[in-house]
Amino acid sequence: NIKKHFPISNPLPFKKSTQSVKAVDGVSFDVYPGETLGIVGESGCGKSTMARLINQLIRPTDGKVLFKGQDLANLAEKDLRDSRKSIQMVFQNPYASLDPRKTIRQLLSEPLEIHRVGDRKSRNERVMELLEVVGLSSYHADRYPHEFSGGQRQRINIARALALNPDVIICDEPVSALDVSVQAQVINLLKDLQEEFGLTYIFISHDLNVVRYMCDRIAVMYLGKIVEIGTYKEIYENPLHPYTKALLSAVPTESPYEKKERIILKGDVPSPVNPPPGCHFHKRCPFAMEICKTAVPELEQQDARQQVACHLYQS
Ligand code: SF4
Ligand code: MG
Repeated sequence: NIKKHFPISNPLPFKKSTQSVKAVDGVSFDVYPGETLGIVGESGCGKSTMARLINQLIRPTDGKVLFKGQDLANLAEKDLRDSRKSIQMVFQNPYASLDPRKTIRQLLSEPLEIHRVGDRKSRNERVMELLEVVGLSSYHADRYPHEFSGGQRQRINIARALALNPDVIICDEPVSALDVSVQAQVINLLKDLQEEFGLTYIFISHDLNVVRYMCDRIAVMYLGKIVEIGTYKEIYENPLHPYTKALLSAVPTESPYEKKERIILKGDVPSPVNPPPGCHFHKRCPFAMEICKTAVPELEQQDARQQVACHLYQS
């Protein structure tokens, strides 16, 4: 039941601000070892905030993040260090996430130095190993980030995330900034690494084609809440929530002759400062009923693993 509300500063200094952006507003889900859980939704739905909460880059307003039974959200600073080793992150922008003044060798040994792993020699060996694992070579070690392409830089970011042998890697839109031809290479690399090292991924994306290829289960977010979660098969073949259906109907199909009914949603995503009461989606939902305007639908189990938050399905 994790929440992150960001208070907004009031333009009138004498008035105390009571408003906040409800970026993540009461979200619960599990991630199982070795799986890839996708988190999808439009920009501003709270995906990246969710990622930062899991990785303890920000603290929640309320709720817990449990990792192997330990509540990460309320750990003391010194214990955070250890858990940070286990949960790493790969960010969206491969251009901004590498310090341009450092060589690849420095960038890759940095996490090892911070966590005081090994001596200089063993750290160097680890750097060479990491370069190889992501498809680069020792030849690249003393170069600077600007000498690499976007795809190569994302490989370097992945190597950096792997340096401390993590259990979980949170990938926040890891291929969105890359050319389509390069996307597939990076995604295949992530898949290979998962198999080789038994990694668990939380894979955040707005691209439903990428998610389909990558994920075992998928959580759909809308305005700070999960509206549906299930296996990729359930989500793609039997979407239940009207928002999931609309998202899927907007994905271009491979065949121009394949008939697909496109669901066009009314209006824009409302502001997370004052989300509509009841179901946050009711102003745009083609199936909205009276109850949707006032009662918040809870996430309820439908099938073995599929859960949906919608009054159309409430027991
Ligand atoms: Fe639509 Fe109502 Fe379901 Fe919300 S709860 S998605 S408004 S039918
Ligand atoms: Mg984002």
